[in-house]
Order: sequence, then C-alpha cells, then structure tokens
Amino acid sequence: MNNPVLAWFRQDLRLCDHPALAAAASKGAVIPLFILDDETPQKWRWGGASRWWLHYSLTSLAKAVPLLLRRGRTDDVLREVVKSSGATSLHFTRDYAPWSAALEQRIKAICDELNIECHRHGGFLLHEPESIRNLSGEPYKVYTPFSRACFALGEPRAPRPPAEITWAKHVLPSDKIADWKLLPTKPNWATGFAGTWQPGEHGAANLLIRFLDDALAHYAEGRDRPDKTLTSRLSPHLHWGEISPQQVWHATRAAMAAAEGKLDGGGEKFLKEVLWREFAYSLLHHWPDLPQKSFKPEYENFPWVKDDAALHRWQRGQTGYPIVDAGMRELWATGIMHNRVRMIVASFLIKHLQIDWREGQRWFWDTLVDADIANNAASWQWVAGCGADASPYYRIFNPMLQGAKFDPDGTYVKRWVQELQNVPAEYIHAPWEMAEPPKNYPAPMVDHAMARDRAKAAFATIKR
Ligand SMILES: Cc1cc2nc3c(=O)[nH]c(=O)nc-3n(C[C@H](O)[C@H](O)[C@H](O)COP(=O)(O)OP(=O)(O)OC[C@H]3O[C@@H](n4cnc5c(N)ncnc54)[C@H](O)[C@@H]3O)c2cc1C
Repeated sequence: MNNPVLAWFRQDLRLCDHPALAAAASKGAVIPLFILDDETPQKWRWGGASRWWLHYSLTSLAKAVPLLLRRGRTDDVLREVVKSSGATSLHFTRDYAPWSAALEQRIKAICDELNIECHRHGGFLLHEPESIRNLSGEPYKVYTPFSRACFALGEPRAPRPPAEITWAKHVLPSDKIADWKLLPTKPNWATGFAGTWQPGEHGAANLLIRFLDDALAHYAEGRDRPDKTLTSRLSPHLHWGEISPQQVWHATRAAMAAAEGKLDGGGEKFLKEVLWREFAYSLLHHWPDLPQKSFKPEYENFPWVKDDAALHRWQRGQTGYPIVDAGMRELWATGIMHNRVRMIVASFLIKHLQIDWREGQRWFWDTLVDADIANNAASWQWVAGCGADASPYYRIFNPMLQGAKFDPDGTYVKRWVQELQNVPAEYIHAPWEMAEPPKNYPAPMVDHAMARDRAKAAFATIKR
C-alpha cells in the first residue's frame, strides 16, 4: 500500500477551495489531522466562545472526513503521527499569528529530520501580507491606500472546485471530541449560541447565500444599523476558515454582476470591509506586537485607570447607557456584537471609563465567537486612537447620539435590555431623563460630559 499524506487542519475547517487539502489529495490517500494545542507556550489561547465554536465546527467536519484528533504540543504530535503513519508529506495552511512563523519553521525542521516533504499553502487570506507594499517597499499603515493596492493587484484567484480525495485507511488512535471538554458546563453560558449559529462549512455557505440574496442591496446604507440584520455575520466562519475569502469575494462579484448595478453600492462596500480583514492581518504580520503594544508608542504612557468594579459593570452590561448595555448583553448571550455597537462599547470603556484597551480586547477574546487575533487587536487600537490608521483619541462617541442615530426606535436596545421594554422611543437612549425612570435599570455609572472632558484632559498629558 502507498504511504499516506498528512493534511494538518488549522483555521481552515472546510473541504471546498482548500489549497492545502487539494495538494495533499493530489499526492495520495490523505490522513486529515487536527491538533488541539494547549501546551506550547504562547500569549493567546482560544477563549471560551472560540472553544464552543471549535467543538461544533470539528463535529461538523468530522461528519464528512475521518478526522484524526490529537491533543498535545503540535511539534510532538506531528512528529509522532508522521512516524506512526509512515506519511511521506505534510500539507498545511499558513497561519499569521505572531507565534506561527516560528512554529511553522520548527515543523519544517521536523519534516526535514524525518525526511518527508513539508508544504505550506495560502488559503486564509486573499493576498499574502508580504505582497502588498507601497512604492518605497514598506507595508501600509493606512487602510485606504492599502485597499487601493489590493484592488490594483486585480481579482484574487478564483475558488477551486472541491478536490477528489481518497481518505487513507489507518489504525491510528483518535481522541474523542467530547473528551476535549471544549463546551462550557457550570455555568453553561452558551445556551443562546446554538440558536444563533451553525458552525461549519454548510452554515457558512448558507449564510453567504442568504446575505447576498437578502441584504447586499441594503448593505451600503444599512450596515451600521444594529436593529436590522444587514451584515453578513460571516466573521466567525471566516475566522475558522469554514469559507475562504476567495469564495466570499467571487460570490459577491457574481451577485454584483447579476444585479446589474442595482445594489446601491452594497457590493463595493462589502468587498472593502473584507479588505479591512486583510489590512488587520498585514498590520499584525509586520507589527507582531499589535495585540500587546500600542502602535503609536506615546500611548504606552496613557494614564489608564485600574478599576475592576467599573470593568465588571461594563462586561455585564450594567453601565446605565442602554446602547452600551445592549451590546454587552448581546455579546454575552450570542457570542457576537454588531460592528457599530462594538465601536460604541469600546469607546465607552476606553474613553468614558479610561480603562486600558487591552482589558476590552481580552474580554472580547474570551466572549466573541469571531475572536480573532488580528481583527480584534487592530480594531481595539483603532478605537483607542493608538493604532495604525486610528480614529483620533479625542473623537469620543456620545452613546445617546449614537443610539438615536443607529437604533432610532430602540428596537435593538429593547431586544437585549429587558428592563427598558416599556420605555418610549424618545427616552430609550437616555431613560434617566424620564419623570419616573425604570427602577430596575441602573443610572449612568459616569456622567457623559464629565467623562468626555476628563478623557480629553488625559489625552493632553500624552501629547506633551
Ligand atoms: C472593538 C472591536 C473589536 C473587534 N474584534 C473583532 C474580532 O475579534 N474578530 C473579527 O472578525 N472582527 C472584529 N471586529 C471587526 C468587526 O466588528 C467584525 O468583523 C464584524 O462586526 C463582523 O460582522 P459581519 O461578519 O457581519 O461583518 P460584515 O460587515 O458582513 O463584513 C464582512 C467581513 O469583513 C470583515 N470585516 C468587517 N469589518 C471589519 C473590521 N473593522 N476589521 C476587520 N475585518 C472586518 C470580517 O471578516 C467580516 O466578516 C472588531 C471591531 C471592533 C470595533
């Protein structure tokens, strides 16, 4: 019997348009392997919501694929599986986390030592981060010229049809997914997740079709409205590689062509959002400290306030500002939060409470199903004003005005904040102004005008 080929799955939990898997399949019968590595020292391990997603995504993949599951240090597991399977080559998709380059080098060294081929493939991004540089050969620090450079490269490669795959017959022992205990138990905070999500490749494909059919035409004007479902909600699927960005890109292009210009700019706007993901990865690749350090070094001297009680109120959606509390409660209940509301809650934490952006980043990392090392860090730094192409620190969101503009009837707030069900729309974003505010909802934990002036004063200290 011919020796098998190893396909090491990472954040690429799909079968379609999978360059690494297709290359493996072209060489022989494939052993598909996934490794849960909680042992190699690294700064960021999957948070709770990510583990919930991973459990169901692997369960979904395992229905179509004889998945070999192993837990342990990636280096040790790969070495052992290569030896015991007699595999002649290893294929995997490149990962861009700051620790991955070293890991991938170590894996290459192990393959050399064991005398097997080692092949790294693209598939997570549209463009490799090294390929997009300005005329001086430097990586971009500003999104708009970066996105222009992406468009100037021409269309990304087209998605590939599913590969013909023969799965290798082997007797290697596999872990059981249930034994990995990825799901929360006591308390089970994920009860609301299952009704919201369908992890896995089918869930991603269904969501994309629904989005293109129902929402793309309203995306340009409606993407900022948390009271409506007008964004794709593909972020966790893209994060876990259940769909490739090439599939998303070309399906959008096809929808744009079919609509013959009647999408009101929705198609172009959506493709530009997909490029924010590419930009975040370009930043992370070139500045691997992005999740730890402010891109603008002067922000490392910002007088952040350490206030665990205030942080806890923000996390639990008890700030007394309805749009902030709705967002934080949506996050807790479903593992997701609308982008506009992410900006509002992040601004509130950083500017109204003056709590370090890294605290917010950590909470999102644990609670978001789309928690993503690049997008999360780049976005938190964007709101904090310390990032590459950031919103200026002194631009401080007014939660009442943001609420009135993007959730005018309070539909979104009422969906998540039970205490405000009977508040009329005119007071929904400032219930404390009612003659008799609801007794079971907290008063604002900080006065907006005072907080805004305090934040500006703190900002002035680092400008000097
Ligand atoms: C404080 C903060 C933290 C964030 N943390 C994350 C995170 O951990 N993971 C994450 O995927 N996104 C993060 N974002 C970006 C953005 O909020 C989400 O990508 C978006 O809300 C996902 O919803 P969607 O799939 O419906 O987006 P759509 O509007 O449908 O956009 C399509 C895709 O484009 C990408 N995208 C859109 N906006 C951005 C953006 N600003 N930055 C990077 N990629 C983008 C996503 O992959 C998204 O799925 C964060 C934003 C903020 C303000």
